Amino acid sequence: MIPFIDLKKQYSLIENDVLAGIKRVLDSGHYILGSEVAELEKQLAEYAGTKYALACSSGTDALLMALMALEIGPGDAVFTTPFTFFATPESIALVGATPVFSDIEETTYNMDPVKLEEAIEKVIKEGKLTPKAIMPVDLFGQAANYKEINAIAKKYGMAVIEDACQGFGAVCPCGKKAPALGDIGCTSFFPAKPLGCYGDGGAVFTDNEELYKKMYSVLVHGRSAEDKYDNVRLGLNARLDTIQAAVLIEKMKLFPKEVELRQEVAAAYMEELAGLVTLPTILPGYTSVWAQFCPRHKDYAKIQEALKEADIPSARYYPIPMHLLGAMKYLGYKKGDFPVTEACADDIFALPMHPYLDRETIKKIAAVIASVVKG
Ligand SMILES: *Cc1c(COP(=O)(O)O)cnc(C)c1O
Repeated sequence: MIPFIDLKKQYSLIENDVLAGIKRVLDSGHYILGSEVAELEKQLAEYAGTKYALACSSGTDALLMALMALEIGPGDAVFTTPFTFFATPESIALVGATPVFSDIEETTYNMDPVKLEEAIEKVIKEGKLTPKAIMPVDLFGQAANYKEINAIAKKYGMAVIEDACQGFGAVCPCGKKAPALGDIGCTSFFPAKPLGCYGDGGAVFTDNEELYKKMYSVLVHGRSAEDKYDNVRLGLNARLDTIQAAVLIEKMKLFPKEVELRQEVAAAYMEELAGLVTLPTILPGYTSVWAQFCPRHKDYAKIQEALKEADIPSARYYPIPMHLLGAMKYLGYKKGDFPVTEACADDIFALPMHPYLDRETIKKIAAVIASVVKG
């Protein structure tokens, strides 16, 4: 069986350094917020090009910390995409705010700025919710259209919380990198993400000192800056484990090279699969970190079946759009509300994607797909 994401191969490249890093933490006796966490935060901020980075326990907690620091809650609207992982709208609902969806662009699978503005206008006209923030997602590793989205946020006086849980390191035409593209950027270090640790982890990024301080407070039960037993707001216990910080410090050394390798893997897929399936589109000026490689084909089920027979794993991201999930039913959306998203959900599938995927395996995958679509 070829792996969907080859974390073992990556581990074999850094095994000694990772084990030494973990041993250092164990020997030090500092298991919570040790020096590794501070060192990692410094490296993360440097890589992303933000003033501040704050490591935390998951991408979901990163989103919650951003929302809580912005004091978003009941009566507030947060605009997001219906084509994402559930944690995106879930975080909005968990703070008591209302997720408001708008459709995606067919080319990039990301938030469509025109539809976003229509959704904002509709909420303003209805007069029930206060538009507070936009939460775009850098889906499958490609940054959303922040030039347009940030301009819209400015026009309506809203904040932008970038869900870069799949996009860490993605480059946009302005030259900046995810997760530095909104007011607060959030990422995940879940093992399968482009930069993953060996458990759960995440981080928030910002240039804004006040928001940074508030997020630090939220990270540790809403403590005050001076005294950890003076709790001035409700917060979380959302710290990153020191052991995971040690792992990430070693993985960061490989990461820039891995982003390059991912470009080569994606380019090979593009060549081998041309004419067989609808390929993902990366717009000019953007660099995707290829968290996933997701083409579309109406016979995806037959393709997946044939791949399985050939011992090749595949997946589907995301078969049910957010507005049609049971947990979001109370929002009152219905099938047909976001036709571009629904059409994508109907025929998209995901192929193995990682930096160490070789051309031979990609050719084999393409041959199986060709056998299905050419009959
Ligand atoms: C993975 C993911 C999250 C959540 O990250 P966790 O670390 O698993 O909590 C949020 N949003 C998107 C788009 C994701 O892919």
